[in-house]
Amino acid sequence: MKKKTAKKTAKKQAIKKKTTKKKSPAKGVKNMKTTTNKKSRTTEKGMIRSINPYTEEVMNEFMTMSPKEVQAIIARSRAVFAGWRATPITERLSHVTRLAEVLRAEKRGYAELMTKEMGKPIKDALAEVEKSATLCDYYAANAERFLLPEMVATEAKKSYVDYEPLGIVLAVEPWNFPFWQVFRAAVPSVSAGNVVVLKHASNVPMTALAIEDSFRKAGFPDGVFKTLLIDPAATVKLIDDDLVDAVALTGSNRAGEEIGAHAGRKIKKLVLELGGSDPFIVLADADVEKAARTAANSRMVNSGQSCIAAKRFIVMESVAEEFTKHFTARLREMKIGDPMDPATDIGPVARKDIRDGLRAQLQDAKRKGAKTVELPQPLSKGYFFAPCVVLNATQNMQVLSDEVFGPIAPIVIVQNEDEAIAAANNTEYGLGAAIWSKDTVRAEMLARRIDTGFVAINDMVRSDPRLPFGGTKKSGVGRELSHYGLMEFVNIKTIVVKE
Ligand code: NAP
Repeated sequence: MKKKTAKKTAKKQAIKKKTTKKKSPAKGVKNMKTTTNKKSRTTEKGMIRSINPYTEEVMNEFMTMSPKEVQAIIARSRAVFAGWRATPITERLSHVTRLAEVLRAEKRGYAELMTKEMGKPIKDALAEVEKSATLCDYYAANAERFLLPEMVATEAKKSYVDYEPLGIVLAVEPWNFPFWQVFRAAVPSVSAGNVVVLKHASNVPMTALAIEDSFRKAGFPDGVFKTLLIDPAATVKLIDDDLVDAVALTGSNRAGEEIGAHAGRKIKKLVLELGGSDPFIVLADADVEKAARTAANSRMVNSGQSCIAAKRFIVMESVAEEFTKHFTARLREMKIGDPMDPATDIGPVARKDIRDGLRAQLQDAKRKGAKTVELPQPLSKGYFFAPCVVLNATQNMQVLSDEVFGPIAPIVIVQNEDEAIAAANNTEYGLGAAIWSKDTVRAEMLARRIDTGFVAINDMVRSDPRLPFGGTKKSGVGRELSHYGLMEFVNIKTIVVKE
């Protein structure tokens, strides 16, 4: 009965168009048909649009859910929560194990969907689905241990800390890692007995529905994980109307300020994973070629659209020329083009407005005297932005002062370690950083002087389910991943038995 209602709702979402007959999200993965509508905005009032950034074609359109539909989903989630929290943890985690199996079984379809919706090179999309499955494996194996009550010796007969779920967690997620970001917010939450409602970015509605479908296929009770096709105004209304109990946002600082303000007013538990402008420091004693090649790889992760991509290259003057030579050589090796081609390293950026924003940031640098090395634009169609190195970046240029969410690489030359650390910390952001030096003891000492949530030494910053992930300063509040991420959305309850 309830399944039927859910199906009806999903059907209603997809606008009846001659070109998009199949509305089931899972089937839609294989049966996407295109129109030649050239509009590139993915949202307009009441509408969410899926646009292929490589072909610029509209693949699908969805009506946003009405307040009534949203309330019905929330009511369903609320009702399911009572049973889900009481379900033995081993049973909850058996669904998480099954979820990993579903991801692996459907990997190709999910990866192709991501590539079509937001332009991620297919090899990266396949790796992202696999990484999401690995995260499921990790929580399936460890969440029970993380949630064991903690006994504490006091004067009382018995004192302990119990970990209980909070209720409905609203996950507001970005398009750049459309599977991974959702899984890393949702899987620890549902493992702990919460239920999750997802508001995904408006340019990836089909991926959002496919993720809901993966939870369904893994046998989670209907209502443990639901996708809401809603706009930002309807999202904050969920908070304002006390319909959710906690909020996880991964996204821009603008969204963080807005959602944080609403959550603060309603005293909701909140985790914010926001922007980054990660420094990549190369000291004079580094393996410069390896550093430069890794730096280029890090900058171009996800076609430059990663929160933890290296975004500012801070290089000691004595090795700057050698670094720049190897960095640009590595960029020239990368294949730019059709994201569906398994050999492609860099695809289009996800939306036209993102490409236009990058052009404006580069223009700003040029107006302020930047010397650049620009790779040729690969194709006339698609939202491509060819990789570009800014050789003499200065702090007044947006490419240094703002987050650059695309393939622009500014290089800053410094004279000594103090200058390097000052330049690294000269940002509002504090997500990750990398330091390259053969003297790892020295590098570890410098790592403690960098104000970020993560420092990689002789490597690039990478997320890992086993390690906490999050930022300082304007990069966010709270942590995801590891047992720290799971603990964000539990009530840490003290129970004392006096005698
Ligand atoms: P975004 O524009 O902030 O969007 C992120 C999500 O927030 C989307 O679902 C978006 O919905 C929603 N949203 C935006 N404004 C909102 C508002 N005022 N109220 C409620 N919801 C709102 O960010 P993005 O461009 O998709 O993602 C790129 C940003 O995410 C970058 O800054 C990147 O560094 C950051 N990021 C951080 C991490 C991390 O772990 N720290 C990881 C990945 C990305 P709509 O799409 O409908 O606007």
